[in-house]
Amino acid sequence: MGSTPTNIAVGLGLAVGLAACGDDGGDGACALTDGTSETATVHPAGCHVLERDTSACDAARAAAGLDGYWLQFSCRVELGKTSTEVTASADGRPDYLSNYFATGDRCHEDYTDAIQNPNTISAQSYQLQFPLVPTTTATSMRGTAVVGLALNGVPIYGNFAAPGDDIFEEALTFDRCGAHPQNQGKYHYHSEPYPISYDDARFIGVMRDGFPIYGRRDSDGALATGLDNNGGHTGTTPDSPSTAVYHYHVNLQTSTTTGTAGEQQWFLTTGQFAGVPGACTGCQ
Ligand SMILES: [Zn+2]
Repeated sequence: MGSTPTNIAVGLGLAVGLAACGDDGGDGACALTDGTSETATVHPAGCHVLERDTSACDAARAAAGLDGYWLQFSCRVELGKTSTEVTASADGRPDYLSNYFATGDRCHEDYTDAIQNPNTISAQSYQLQFPLVPTTTATSMRGTAVVGLALNGVPIYGNFAAPGDDIFEEALTFDRCGAHPQNQGKYHYHSEPYPISYDDARFIGVMRDGFPIYGRRDSDGALATGLDNNGGHTGTTPDSPSTAVYHYHVNLQTSTTTGTAGEQQWFLTTGQFAGVPGACTGCQ
């Protein structure tokens, strides 16, 4: 009779093993967070800047000729390279929990410190082409929704809302990590993305004209100064410490619109590209 407890233990072990074959990683957790870990940097709303383990895709990217900040993109973003551009495919979903995943989705979390809009996050299929050699012909962002891609595969939008809406009012609906979905389930950042950068010099992503974007600060720790009408300037970066290169920064803007006048946001764009954006499928 002494063998019975052992048999029960083996039976339980098998059950756990079978559960591990599910698409949830076996622990019932949100699979989109796989490969991420929280850093000590945390926004007051409770969103941690995340570290992303790219060891599973580093070798393939290096073999494709990618280097520098491209290697910081999450493995959830598929990257390639041609002689003239870097290509990226992403589904646009975040790699952390949000109140904008449907209730019951294992990536859903409750968050009641903001106004929740009626939309829920759904997977998209973005295909972006970033010029390897950006032009310097300033171009309006109006008329396109996606203006860049954050390193976790979430699209970057401009500093403006849908026609007739006030972006500073829309900001009241951002989730814990500073983003929200529009009515087709397309989740996106307009402003400083807290799971990537919070009051620092971290690399955030690449805009569609091929120039990279960083947090509020330069690598010397000082707030970025001398930004042009596109929100960028030329100088060294954490990824180009000895050669000055053109790059964007998160930049502070103040509402002059009746109703929200005086409110401030660290937006990702000024509404204008420094160069001509590359082609994109799914960016309208
Ligand atoms: Zn800078």
